[in-house]
Amino acid sequence: MTTMTTASGPAARAWIACLACYNSGDLVGAWYDAAQADDVAIDALHVDSGTITQASCEEMWVMDHEHLPLRGECSPAEAAEWGRLLDDVDERQRDALLAWVRSGDYVAEAHGNLPSLPDFEERYAGEWDSFTEYAEELAKDTGMLTDVPEWARPYFDMDKFAHDLAFDHTTEPAPGGGLYVFRSL
Ligand SMILES: [Zn+2]
Repeated sequence: MTTMTTASGPAARAWIACLACYNSGDLVGAWYDAAQADDVAIDALHVDSGTITQASCEEMWVMDHEHLPLRGECSPAEAAEWGRLLDDVDERQRDALLAWVRSGDYVAEAHGNLPSLPDFEERYAGEWDSFTEYAEELAKDTGMLTDVPEWARPYFDMDKFAHDLAFDHTTEPAPGGGLYVFRSL
């Protein structure tokens, strides 16, 4: 197989099949780096899966994939678009980006369904143990309680603040048991 990406972290992969072979009952296909899915030649695909290209072999299709936020099958071009986008994202933020897409409350690029990276960067508010922890940190960072004397701070209703703040945010579970927090602008 000619896959393997140089990027660290889970690589997005696409299992590309030959449609003509598939339609005649032969599962001819191989795994490729998703970012290169639109660059696979029909002959190479057959070589990689140990078969020979027939005259009718022409079209290819992604029958399976890993670490792509797509449901079901897709075109090699679509897999490649996603693969390249994910390659452009810092490894530590890739999961958060995928979670943002999964939430459904994400901003797409002008054309198509790909998430807009500038919007992601603007809205991603980090990974937290809980939403309350995020709210506490926000209250501290914005100096909300700076003018409140130390002794009076426990009277501030952090839970209510977090509750109201949640309306302007989207959260998604993070792998470590915490939450990814996104601002809804
Ligand atoms: Zn074929």
